[in-house]
Amino acid sequence: MTNCLFCRIIAGDLPAKKVYEDQHTFAFEDIHPQAPTHVLVVPKKHIRGLKEASTEDAEVIGRCHLVAAQIARQRAVENGYRTVLNIGPGAGQSVFHLHVHLLGGRSLAWPPG
Ligand code: 5GP
Ligand code: ZN
Repeated sequence: MTNCLFCRIIAGDLPAKKVYEDQHTFAFEDIHPQAPTHVLVVPKKHIRGLKEASTEDAEVIGRCHLVAAQIARQRAVENGYRTVLNIGPGAGQSVFHLHVHLLGGRSLAWPPG
């Protein structure tokens, strides 16, 4: 989708600090990091969000989480990290291309705000 920010990043039309890429997923540094590690992992397929995902998206959503776990291992933040999907404007979703936030490298309070 040409009007989607993350589709444009995946396509290389907009700059981003790429962390990882494979056939199905793409990971890059969040532009406004909320923790020492703050990486966004996205499916290459445009999915608006978890609400809009269908059964056929299950594998790629799982893959995004496994990529986040792999990056957490590489960044040595496995003592405690968080994967987060914000779903809908009320939860702070501001970009409508499904993305998993990987947050780590600092202590993370529970419950989140
Ligand atoms: P959301 O609020 O939708 O859960 O998360 C969107 C995330 O995308 C935010 O953490 C925000 O900082 C990040 N973001 C927004 N625009 C850009 C951008 O142009 N480049 C990168 N790398 N991250 C972005
Ligand atoms: Zn998109």
